[in-house]
Amino acid sequence: MAERKPLISGNWKMHHNHFEAIQMVQSLSYQLSSDDYDACDVSVHPPFTNLRSIQTVLESDHIPITLGAQHCHEEQKGAYTGEISPGMLEKLNVGLVIVGHSERREIFGESNSQVNSKVKAIFKHGMTPILCVGETIEEREEGEAERKVQKQLEEGLHGIGRERIASMVVAYEPIWAIGTGVTATPDDAQDMCAKVRQCIKFIAGKDASESVRIQYGGSVKPINAAELMNQADIDGALVGGAALEAESFARIIQYRLQ
Ligand code: PEP
Repeated sequence: MAERKPLISGNWKMHHNHFEAIQMVQSLSYQLSSDDYDACDVSVHPPFTNLRSIQTVLESDHIPITLGAQHCHEEQKGAYTGEISPGMLEKLNVGLVIVGHSERREIFGESNSQVNSKVKAIFKHGMTPILCVGETIEEREEGEAERKVQKQLEEGLHGIGRERIASMVVAYEPIWAIGTGVTATPDDAQDMCAKVRQCIKFIAGKDASESVRIQYGGSVKPINAAELMNQADIDGALVGGAALEAESFARIIQYRLQ
């Protein structure tokens, strides 16, 4: 069975200007050791305006944190005012791009078919997508959670080869747990992450399902990180609020020490 190194990703959303972002990443790197990087991959996903500054800090100080983006457009160039292309991110040595975050889906109306085009464009530019899936509280209460997540995976991964799926990251993020302080119980998170893996097996085969990394996201904090991360099908965390401060993000990355 494939060894899946955990990936802990910090999604800063629309927080931190580039001065604050530089300070944050430097402070984070002072708190992490080579043992931490051996145990787990780390990525930070600052706003677009900070990418160049953070790239410079990571590269000049040889900090082994992957630079990530929160979103991108699916086209390479064109009349799309305000958008950023995958090629632009590639030039900044961005390694991971979040796609289909529930805030993009719910606030900006991104459809599964747009998400699918973005996943393809991200791969085409040599980067790795973190595909977010997850249900609302109403969908969960109506027993529709699994069906929603399955549809997001089937449509989001349509036409993507098995090897690419094997190399990517899926983040299961129940919408009711994002930014609310309410976390899924480790059992519930494990249950849905196992279903995500089953669904990937159906879409792309056993090998891909055993290699794909599945993150849990939704109010992950230093206090609950270890319990979530110790679940069999959870290979990492996508962290919002608790990734904004170096100390709390470092403690999540060091969950194994708790
Ligand atoms: C997120 O934005 O993906 C997220 C999980 O946020 P939070 O950790 O704040 O719930």
